[in-house]
Amino acid sequence: MNGEKRILLEYADKINPEKAEDYIKVGGYKGLEKARKMKPKQIIEEVKKSKLRGRGGAGFSTGMKWSFVPEHAPVKYVVCNLDEGEPGTYKDRIICEKNAQALLEGMAICALAIGAKKGYIYCRGEYPHIVRLLNNAIESAKKAGVLEDFDIEVRMGAGAYVCGEETALIESIEGKRGEPRFKPPFPGVEGLWGVPTVVNNVETFACIPYILTHGAEWFASIGAPDYPGTKVLTLTGDINNPTYFEVPTDYLLSDVIYKLGGGIKGGRKLKAVQVGGSSGAFIPPENIHTSIDFDSMSRIGASLGSGAVFVLDETRDIVDVATRIAKFFEHESCGKCNPCREGTFRMYEMMQRINAGRGSEEDLENILVLSRVMQKASLCGLGQAAPIPIETTIKHFREDYMRKLM
Ligand code: NAD
Repeated sequence: MNGEKRILLEYADKINPEKAEDYIKVGGYKGLEKARKMKPKQIIEEVKKSKLRGRGGAGFSTGMKWSFVPEHAPVKYVVCNLDEGEPGTYKDRIICEKNAQALLEGMAICALAIGAKKGYIYCRGEYPHIVRLLNNAIESAKKAGVLEDFDIEVRMGAGAYVCGEETALIESIEGKRGEPRFKPPFPGVEGLWGVPTVVNNVETFACIPYILTHGAEWFASIGAPDYPGTKVLTLTGDINNPTYFEVPTDYLLSDVIYKLGGGIKGGRKLKAVQVGGSSGAFIPPENIHTSIDFDSMSRIGASLGSGAVFVLDETRDIVDVATRIAKFFEHESCGKCNPCREGTFRMYEMMQRINAGRGSEEDLENILVLSRVMQKASLCGLGQAAPIPIETTIKHFREDYMRKLM
């Protein structure tokens, strides 16, 4: 046994995700049936009691988010964020490919809880097959009559990473250029077309049916007490078994690498692991005996983020890797705010210089100052997170940088 615990992916490859009947046969849509007999407030209380926290990366309490929606607003929306643009992250795609009906059920339960009649799934442009899959899944659920009067529409992005930021995503659905809005107001109060909107990630919504079906206590008892449940992880890089897994949230990062991942390719040593995609912190080998839950990761200066685990072996040039990441953010910055637009540009410029052997210690110190400014002053998560991989490689692998300086 490798310690995997499958809830969302229990019937992966055993049922057709497009067919509501297949999902119903294995207990699907029972949570929604239960929710229909509950008052909206009771549903929200149940989700709060489960202690489910957002699986998109930020770990915000889901029940709390739902409770922010003003009860008496005449129109409200449910929006699912399927714009997973974080390099190395593909867990939402897997959840759709294996269990799309759970996502639809979770959105329908949310709609009952907040009083919405319409939902949108915003899918990244790189996933055209998922758009088709979801449209078929929605059609099948409608035919089976399980969604009743809740309508779900799939919208497609066009490849901008920033559209995964919830307010840029909302702007994009509205037909505008995908740029983040100032928060507050948060979408729960003023979201899509200015009305209260719940935006949750695919994995978050997909947890909801199981919470309603089996009860909040059951969910809260799985994994880490303050970030309970399971987490779908995607494993990439210099690893023997680069694939996806679903594990309880108190699973150790070292076990992800050595048990699930089968260790480092070619029997080499681990250089570093980056958790949470390209915007995540780099973790040195001495810190990997940590549980993957949100708070344990924060305690070691990292973030679970989207659950992407990227492994680098001892032969990798970490300064070169960090330079490529800097290029990614320079390319993806939407340009709306100065700290991110200029910051990602200058960061990449200095990293290129250092990587090419033309950098100085002053560059290194300037990167650290710029990193603090970007984290504090950028408008959204893109600019706030962009310097983290660079800063953490300097923190843990300074000697690699020193070797490249002039
Ligand atoms: P955030 O902490 O600002 O917000 C998280 C959620 O909680 C949002 O929905 C927000 O509206 C809500 N919220 C926060 N404070 C609130 C308040 N006071 N009142 C009402 N609602 C409130 O984080 P964020 O910028 O939405 O997301 C950042 C995360 O995104 C990062 O941790 C990163 O890991 C993740 N990320 C994921 C991907 C991916 O592909 N899945 C890509 C990039 C980044």
